[in-house]
Amino acid sequence: MDSLKTKTQCVHSGTIFDQRTRGVNTPIFTSTSYGYLDIDERIYPRYFNTPNNKSVIEKICALEGGEDALVFGSGMAAITTTLMTFLKNGDHAVFQHGLYGGTFHFITKKIGAFGINITVADSNKSQDIEKAIQPNTKIIYIETPSNPLLGITDIAEVARISRARHLISVIDNTFASPVNQCPLQLGMDIVVHSATKYLGGHSDICAGLVVSSTEKIREIYQQAINLGGSLDSFTCYLLERSMKTLALRVDQQNNNALAIARFLEKHPRIGKVYYPGLESHTGHATARKQMSGFGGMLSFELKKIDPIRFQKKLNIIKPSMSLGGVDSIICAPFLTSHAKLSKEERLREGIKDSLLRLSLGIEDVEDLLEDLEHALSS
Ligand SMILES: *Cc1c(COP(=O)(O)O)cnc(C)c1O
Repeated sequence: MDSLKTKTQCVHSGTIFDQRTRGVNTPIFTSTSYGYLDIDERIYPRYFNTPNNKSVIEKICALEGGEDALVFGSGMAAITTTLMTFLKNGDHAVFQHGLYGGTFHFITKKIGAFGINITVADSNKSQDIEKAIQPNTKIIYIETPSNPLLGITDIAEVARISRARHLISVIDNTFASPVNQCPLQLGMDIVVHSATKYLGGHSDICAGLVVSSTEKIREIYQQAINLGGSLDSFTCYLLERSMKTLALRVDQQNNNALAIARFLEKHPRIGKVYYPGLESHTGHATARKQMSGFGGMLSFELKKIDPIRFQKKLNIIKPSMSLGGVDSIICAPFLTSHAKLSKEERLREGIKDSLLRLSLGIEDVEDLLEDLEHALSS
């Protein structure tokens, strides 16, 4: 299936064809007990190897260009299991500035207890990431576009720095999805996803993925079966089903986000707009180089409008947490992802209380523009 185009891979890669019924969809395999005589691979849900796991693995490998993958019960299970596979007592890891809150909490508050040291680079610039490397560094970890200001890290450059020193490079590809960005093709070693977002796409399942080489996945697997963060077959099936429409959804979300970013940028009641597809965005040139679409996420600052009142005036766009679904949702980072930081800490991160983050859904852009215009003018 490797030679097929993305939209075709989304639909067909990984489907298990049931010879008995000739149904077009993968059946759901519910057993937790499987026969063991005369077979090489013993199947058990916590061994990450039920047929429904394998369907998702084959599909994400086709999309990301990976050799093998593992499906987890959440994005955080995928991320923490990967880190706890390659880092041990005495090791050091470099993280870019501006990570997902859950990842940041784990590396700054929890990982130290295992004797692992970390440095968060001063920015997401590759020079700052390189500067943070120490003699005992094992991993470089990045996330692009980042949350909530859509910062862009130069993926190929980080991969080059990592390879030159024989380190393991990891990227959280959640915001872009493999439709917009394929980091393994740019030289990264490991891709992690919160499949709760674009891959699941309907705000109704929680899952995570790791994609890499056969060798790296074999190592992660050895740790994953201990930590036990596997995903059940029912939810694997839902994820496989969702990924059939991934490319269609992301195309529409890219288009909606670009149109809305351009509208907001010209609006007198809007301050800064952060979207990598805008020429005014600091990461635009790098984004053009490494992304085929600029994604469905953007953020913007309101001018002299209360962000809570503004959100209540919206009719279609819902003030909600999370992102990546078919419904357009909006949130204020100072009340959600960055609520635990003090106001000074937030301002140092460039996050004002007037900043709102928008996750575009697949609705008609005319209706979304009207919803925003109405809330801005009333
Ligand atoms: C949501 C998210 C995660 C965590 O995923 P869960 O599925 O909630 O565990 C990790 N990284 C990014 C970029 C996210 O948006």
